Amino acid sequence: MANSGIASDERLADTDGLQAVTGGGQSLRPRTNEEAIRQARRDAKEARKRYITEDLYPVDMVDVVQNANLRLMVASIDDPNFVGYYERGTGTIYVNALSAPPRLRTTMAHEFGHWYDLEVKGRPATSCKREVRREFTSPGDAYADEFMLCFLMPEGLIRKLRKFGATIGRLSDDFGVSEESVMNRLRSLGLLS
Ligand SMILES: [Zn+2]
Repeated sequence: MANSGIASDERLADTDGLQAVTGGGQSLRPRTNEEAIRQARRDAKEARKRYITEDLYPVDMVDVVQNANLRLMVASIDDPNFVGYYERGTGTIYVNALSAPPRLRTTMAHEFGHWYDLEVKGRPATSCKREVRREFTSPGDAYADEFMLCFLMPEGLIRKLRKFGATIGRLSDDFGVSEESVMNRLRSLGLLS
């Protein structure tokens, strides 16, 4: 079973590159992961202004998804590799109800990032149908993951909390994300080696 997930990811990664070259006439080459990450940082700031109505934490992703007029489907899927996906056409974000709450939030924000990249920014399709735990090798997923970190943990606030001595465990509670996500955010801001 694990093999089928890996195979499907490889196929998606291939499609990702192909569509980036041919899709929309926007670019003659696929963007690199580094370019995708820079775009995600800018876009997440912009998206926070547009779709977050109250500056409260943890970010209420259900509210955000509704503000963006997207559909949210929370289904119990008995497959630990399935966490969620964004479906074009219907504008639906699917998440696995069997995920722990911090993962539900980060999955929704990751899929919301795919939507922002594809539909708001109109960039070539990089969305994946199926998300599994793995290294983010495609630019589309590098984008969605960085978008998620920046959307849920804004730079100014996390810097301030860290300066006042907030531990990783405390930040994990405050932002409603896993300690791993907090550490990734701190690393990307140069606050953790
Ligand atoms: Zn993804």
